[in-house]
Amino acid sequence: MPAKRVRLLMMNAALGPLDYRVPDGVEVNAGAVVVVPLGPRQVLGIVWEEDRLPAERIDDSRLRPLIGVCDVPPIKAELRRLIEWCADYYCAPMASVARMVIASSAALRGAATMTEYRLTGGMPERMTAKREQALAALEGEQASLRELAGMADVSEAVLRGLVNQGALEPVEVDCDRPYPQARADYAVPELSPEQAEVAARLVAATSGGGFAPFLLDGVTGSGKTETYCEAIASALERGQQVLVLLPEIALTEAFLRRFEERFGAAPVQWHSSLKATERRRAWRAIAAGTAQVVVGARSALFLPYARLGLIVVDEAHEISFKQDDGVRYNARDVAVMRARFERIPVVLASATPALESLAMADSGVYERLVLPSRFGGAQLPDIQLVDLTEEPPERGEWIAPPLRRALLQRLEKGEQSLLFLNRRGYAPLTLCRDCGHRLQCPHCSAWMVEHRFSARLACHHCGHEMPPPKACPECGAADSLVPCGPGVERIADEVAQILPDARVTVATSDTLNSPERAAQFVAEAEHGAIDVIVGTQLVTKGFHFPELTLVGVIDADLGLEGGDLRAAERTYQQIAQVAGRAGRGAKPGEVLIQTRHPDAPVIAALAAGDRDAFYEAETEARRHAHAPPFGRWAAIIISSEDEAEARMAANRIGDTRPRLPDLQFYGPAPAPMALLRGRYRFRLLVNARRTAQLQHTIRQWIAAVQHPPGVRVGIDIDPYNFV
Ligand code: ADP
Ligand code: ZN
Repeated sequence: MPAKRVRLLMMNAALGPLDYRVPDGVEVNAGAVVVVPLGPRQVLGIVWEEDRLPAERIDDSRLRPLIGVCDVPPIKAELRRLIEWCADYYCAPMASVARMVIASSAALRGAATMTEYRLTGGMPERMTAKREQALAALEGEQASLRELAGMADVSEAVLRGLVNQGALEPVEVDCDRPYPQARADYAVPELSPEQAEVAARLVAATSGGGFAPFLLDGVTGSGKTETYCEAIASALERGQQVLVLLPEIALTEAFLRRFEERFGAAPVQWHSSLKATERRRAWRAIAAGTAQVVVGARSALFLPYARLGLIVVDEAHEISFKQDDGVRYNARDVAVMRARFERIPVVLASATPALESLAMADSGVYERLVLPSRFGGAQLPDIQLVDLTEEPPERGEWIAPPLRRALLQRLEKGEQSLLFLNRRGYAPLTLCRDCGHRLQCPHCSAWMVEHRFSARLACHHCGHEMPPPKACPECGAADSLVPCGPGVERIADEVAQILPDARVTVATSDTLNSPERAAQFVAEAEHGAIDVIVGTQLVTKGFHFPELTLVGVIDADLGLEGGDLRAAERTYQQIAQVAGRAGRGAKPGEVLIQTRHPDAPVIAALAAGDRDAFYEAETEARRHAHAPPFGRWAAIIISSEDEAEARMAANRIGDTRPRLPDLQFYGPAPAPMALLRGRYRFRLLVNARRTAQLQHTIRQWIAAVQHPPGVRVGIDIDPYNFV
């Protein structure tokens, strides 16, 4: 009798599919997660359908047996199809996609308890600097030794010393304790008639089941959240799971609170800063079907939900749904595919939808649901342009007289203002007054950005940091380095000069870098403890501060520069979103947009509040450029630590490009970020007509070219930027 065998998708991208023998008496089905021997090691695989994963047939006698089957539900067929689709569409190894599914190795272990450590309050007999550092940093924390070592920035050995000395104690934690249950009928809001109509449609689709993509197109403050929560309630009533994707962890905090007010219990969170125990607990509850509603960043999309009934992508236009390393996927698009495989509804919610999403709605593929007005009669804000060429700010300042006057008025009336500038830090560039030298990152083609709060210069691309030098590193002149241009910290300084009594808060990913800090910011802003918020794109969306009546855009032209493929659309979205923070309560809002190009179509459309005009103009520009949704882009990025090697590899790829009528090639050329994290980068762009077999062509072409081991070739399908 032939041996019973299984085909495995191995969780290591360097391995192809492999066959293993199933020992007698062991039962495995497709999707099972198994442990197998590989040489002297034990590795993970997922049992796959043989006909979907071709492999070289090896003889029965050479088959090695499975070691074990993990104590988790098998990965369902719907999710296996999604893994295949993602790998195929994004030209990525299936293993890399599957690793996003098996996102917690701890979850695969059956044991139900884990050991964490916490401070006892006792002191070690012998104190060292490292021990002291650990004791100070770990106050109130409880986690694994490895995680604590990371938090305290000491080695695990230091912590083991503290365990031996009785200053840290082990705690057994039940890894799989259940989450509090949400209740569909906990606090049901009264919907406005237009909200009720939209909610009814979503509820019908959710209870009916079946693939149903929606574009929930509602102005800022229209109550999109309240409305899709009715569909969540409907899923809860039928014991189905719901996934809500948010673009930013900073937004999760506000969502958690609103969710708890509506459903009586917080949803389950999923994001990159979860501890290993929290990941395991969430993963297992998701796979078991006991996690009812999961709110998370884009990676939550690949988890093995047992009974998914609805997916919501909130702020669906956001660029952060696009992942730019590893598997370069767009979570918004993958969400729609997942809903399709699972045969469930998916809701893309936005006040400023991506042009691609609008096109899908216009062509009837997505059902469009519209919330045209703000909830509770709040009016959309009045938008005015400030022409910087006519009313410039003082030299060395960035706030022009009209915005200055408006800020003063708000403070007098005790109302809040928000200034938006999408630049972290104090100044984007530091240069020497004597010799003109510009401080650049040694590892990237980027300037070092001054951060005054932390008294550091930082590279925003690789994280390289240094203290600000006292003298110019090029000519040696002392005190000759001057900041050029504004970042939010510098704007905050300027506000402090205009309004010495105002309470000013800078809100960026530097200052709101944890859920706790984000929560504190929201609480202070809501309770009127802040007069002026100066923030980056982080504050443009989601927040609802009723006392906020003035929004000032410091530099509307900023986003129109640079390698963003959708620069005009992004500028429109950012400014429309940040404008949407004004006047959400009873008092009307005012928006002042500072610009040097008041006639640019995107700026004019913003001023006129004419969204349709903007989208029409942008649609024509895209059609003309064969850009999405009329054509498609792919980027191929070739990099190496050796510049000559990278250039040669790029040329080899360029020379062998396929000559097809429906593909157009640009490059290879040095990428705008020609050096990134110490790697030299070259780039080729492919523009394809809709008819082209883009992925298939690229895969074959790239696979046929050999490179030295130091060369990496990345493929970015539907890229968001050209850098
Ligand atoms: P959007 O996401 O569309 O910008 P939100 O969902 O944040 O809007 O709603 C704006 C504000 O109006 C929130 O404070 C929300 O609680 C409130 N709101 C919206 N709809 C209702 C409703 N039906 N009942 C009570 N409050 C509502
Ligand atoms: Zn750098």
